[in-house]
Amino acid sequence: MTSRLRKKVLTLPQKAGIYFFKTRTGEVIYIGKARSLRDRVKSYFQQTSDVKTKNILSETWDVDFILTGSTKEAAFLENNFIRTYQPKYNLRLKDDKSFPFLKMTLRKKFPALILTRRVEEDGAKYYGPYSPAQQARQTSHLIAKYFGIRTCEEAVPGKRKRPCLEYDLKLCSAPCVKYISESDYRESVENALLFLDGKTEKLLSILKLKMRESASRKEFEQAAHWRDLIHTIEDIKERPKLISVQMEDIDIFGFARENENIAVYVFMMRRGKVIESEELTVQEKEEVSNTKILSACLWDFYEKRKNIPDKILLPFAPDRKEKLSKMLLKKKQKKVEILTPIRGKNKKLVSLANTNAEILMRKKSEDLSPLEEMRKIIELKTLPVRIEGYDISNTGGDESVGSVVVFENGLPQKNDYRKYKIKSVEGPNDVASIQEVIKRRYTRLLQEKKAFPDLILVDGGKGQLNAAKAVLEELGLSHLPVVSLAKKEEIIFTPSRKNGIRLEKTSSVLKLFQNIRDESHRFALSFHRLRRKKKSFESRLDGIEGIGPKKKAALLIKYKSVEEIKKASIEELAKIVGKKVAQGLVDKLRTE
Ligand code: SF4
Repeated sequence: MTSRLRKKVLTLPQKAGIYFFKTRTGEVIYIGKARSLRDRVKSYFQQTSDVKTKNILSETWDVDFILTGSTKEAAFLENNFIRTYQPKYNLRLKDDKSFPFLKMTLRKKFPALILTRRVEEDGAKYYGPYSPAQQARQTSHLIAKYFGIRTCEEAVPGKRKRPCLEYDLKLCSAPCVKYISESDYRESVENALLFLDGKTEKLLSILKLKMRESASRKEFEQAAHWRDLIHTIEDIKERPKLISVQMEDIDIFGFARENENIAVYVFMMRRGKVIESEELTVQEKEEVSNTKILSACLWDFYEKRKNIPDKILLPFAPDRKEKLSKMLLKKKQKKVEILTPIRGKNKKLVSLANTNAEILMRKKSEDLSPLEEMRKIIELKTLPVRIEGYDISNTGGDESVGSVVVFENGLPQKNDYRKYKIKSVEGPNDVASIQEVIKRRYTRLLQEKKAFPDLILVDGGKGQLNAAKAVLEELGLSHLPVVSLAKKEEIIFTPSRKNGIRLEKTSSVLKLFQNIRDESHRFALSFHRLRRKKKSFESRLDGIEGIGPKKKAALLIKYKSVEEIKKASIEELAKIVGKKVAQGLVDKLRTE
């Protein structure tokens, strides 16, 4: 486990959710659910002999997550996401064994409650999916026992003379043989629907009334029946929030903001199941309102999409809502509902999306590395873990030098820095000098079969970028991504974005690029200064009898500058150049 991942895992929330193991290219290779994301993911990194775990870890570059309201919701989401992503290590769930639903056949005169694994648009009302599947059978049994709703698929009314065993077991009110009137049966169905819909308060008040009425009529067995049902309902736990039993396609948006940092989180529910989520992070000036930002995000999100939902749930109304409605209507050829729920199940869904947006925002602003964002912004296939920054220093066109600095995971790797004296270029010519340095550097790496960077950054504008690209092509390295960063305007140029990318001053990506650029500049400049100093030092020692290149170099190492030599005694200088030459040296320098 790399220290980077170790740090990341420790930042995961100790809350329920699903986690994603991702490769360096962003491919999801494993999805799991957890009661506590941090504890569960941490457990993968303990010593293990399990081959599958070892394989997952060897390919994992990043771990991502989505929060859910409970472990139950996590189980449903996990299943949906596995179906969407088909991660290679979730083999067990790759087959299409779906969770069961309960279906109330409302179009029938005497509706039945049937167990099914397929949801269709047939006028029936569907509940579920239930996990584990046993829960669907338990619920069906409960509905049959307390509400007398049939679970058979017989034609009712039909030709039956006698009810089946279900009636004898007190699990059906036997509408097939008219033991119950249509209106009483319908009332039972309505109550069963209240139960299945989770409208427990309304149902409980109806049942309490029925219990009191039965007791006042001294129908004690019936009163006990209602009492038992009341207790059962009070014990029933909350149904999962993340599953809609409607056949709708809904996008649910969450929004979080801290000063200039904004996160928007979207759950995409298709045919009643959350199948995907998307994250957007934005930086915007503090004076720009949330309604305006949400509006811009929605516009951007839907303008590029084909799959437009039936309904959009938002935490608050955006600016230009009418205009957005018109755009969605045009795209879908059908009105799209844009809602800001204030209560109920939809409100809970938006709250959950808000919580995920909040976590996303914190995660992004405290991000251990802006590399993922950089990858997205400049459309790289892989994370730019190793970046090489190039700069040229040639003040006055004299003694031109080039520098290469190396950053790994956003941190400088000083041992890998390299400096170059420009050999083939006359006078100040940054573009040609950059080409010389890149050519020398990568020719060497090719010869030595060493690793290449994930990204190359050159100081300058389009000219420098094109020059770098041309050399890479010449070397057969056109696949290496290269960008340039122009000074003053701080525009990032990439081969695919001719007008460049302007990032907010506070952007962590821009800051990293600036760090690399400034570091390569500092390194080139210090080398250049050293070269100039050496040259000036050497030229002032020119013409002194007995001082050749070797003695100049020895003096430079010992004294660093001519001024220091002037302060030295003849005896000291004699130790380096001999007594006779030392005297001549002192005489020459003191008469300057
Ligand atoms: S009693 Fe009649 S309606 Fe009830 S389950 Fe049996 S066959 Fe179906």
